[in-house]
Amino acid sequence: MNNGTIRSTMLPYGQQWIEDDDIEAVVAALKSPMLTTGPKINEFEQAVASFVGAEYAVAFSNGTAALHGACYAAGITAGDEVITSAITFAASANCARYVGANVVFADIDGRTYNIDPSDVARKITARTKAIIPVDFTGQPCHIDEIVKLARQHQLVVIQDGAHSLGAKYKGEFVGTQADMTMFSFHPVKPVTTAEGGVIVTNDERYYERLKLFRTHGITTTPFAKEQGAWYYEMIDLGYNYRMTDLQAALGVSQLKKLTPFIKRRRELAALYTELLRDVPGVTAPFQSEESESGWHLYSIQIDAATVCKSRKQIFEEMRAANIGVHVHYIPVYWFPYYEQLGYNKGLCPVAEQWYDQALTLPLYPRMQEDDVREVVYRLRQALMDGSQLDKRHSEVHHT
Ligand SMILES: *Cc1c(COP(=O)(O)O)cnc(C)c1O
Repeated sequence: MNNGTIRSTMLPYGQQWIEDDDIEAVVAALKSPMLTTGPKINEFEQAVASFVGAEYAVAFSNGTAALHGACYAAGITAGDEVITSAITFAASANCARYVGANVVFADIDGRTYNIDPSDVARKITARTKAIIPVDFTGQPCHIDEIVKLARQHQLVVIQDGAHSLGAKYKGEFVGTQADMTMFSFHPVKPVTTAEGGVIVTNDERYYERLKLFRTHGITTTPFAKEQGAWYYEMIDLGYNYRMTDLQAALGVSQLKKLTPFIKRRRELAALYTELLRDVPGVTAPFQSEESESGWHLYSIQIDAATVCKSRKQIFEEMRAANIGVHVHYIPVYWFPYYEQLGYNKGLCPVAEQWYDQALTLPLYPRMQEDDVREVVYRLRQALMDGSQLDKRHSEVHHT
């Protein structure tokens, strides 16, 4: 299947799959009277809620705005502490900063790479208000243990399910285990609205607060009768975080494909795992028996000592072969913004060691099996050169 020539275009690490029916759905919304906050928003919210089995869903302009809304709905304020994973996209932590809270980073579990409940337990203080666990790569976090801890300490759990729409935990879809769960609809995520986010919840109070926050803190319903139909009040400081009907129309169309997309991701991931089984120095992602991952990312570990080559070298060789490998994620507290707030290296040792060896391989539903074979072929090549190097090279490595 591969004659050694370099492919002509970069194989991305992730990519949307838009078909004619998706395009037609957006065009129909464009021709309708309502371009924003029209009937498609309700339809999309109901479709997401019913897919995961939740009572309520609130759509936002993006997943980060949705997390901000969830922090507001949970009543998190200045001085509170919020615990999240060291290995995640910055937004899982930033949302707590938006409402003035301090972020506490918990280390990851060395097998699943998800937030380690025992480290969460160690980091709970009298000021802790919420936990934001992340379903890293689409593999659900240890949510039962997190929720148990939260109940013991009266904390709110906001699950960052940006990667895990359609994934299952103990046989049930992610979305009803936490107090609120966020799904992102960015183009690389399981299904897309271009930009978009949704919070699902079973709690009516959170639902009401989420809707308030999404539209400037403005409410109309309680006053209409007394004051007149034009009347509204702004009862708190909210934002304009609304999703458009164009996006919601795309979302409704895309959601119909979530199940086949996830099925395809699982097939491709299984092929990777099979092909990587006998590659020395490579650890394929561990899959917990209690969950079924949605396989948003395929993240491997490369043992630099075994392969005698740095992750950076392997990354660059893969990129030179037009394989769009990536690294998800840099420990969030390493970023200058968080560093300036006083977080130091060494805070989460498991996460840091994991990060040094992490590499994301391309994975998305539209990929072909031959693409997977090509990625593994290129990876083997990149690793092989290394093992042929003089043994002495291995001594200058681990930094
Ligand atoms: C994508 C992502 C978000 C934010 O979603 P946007 O829709 O891009 O704002 C939050 N958390 C994680 C883990 C993500 O991957």
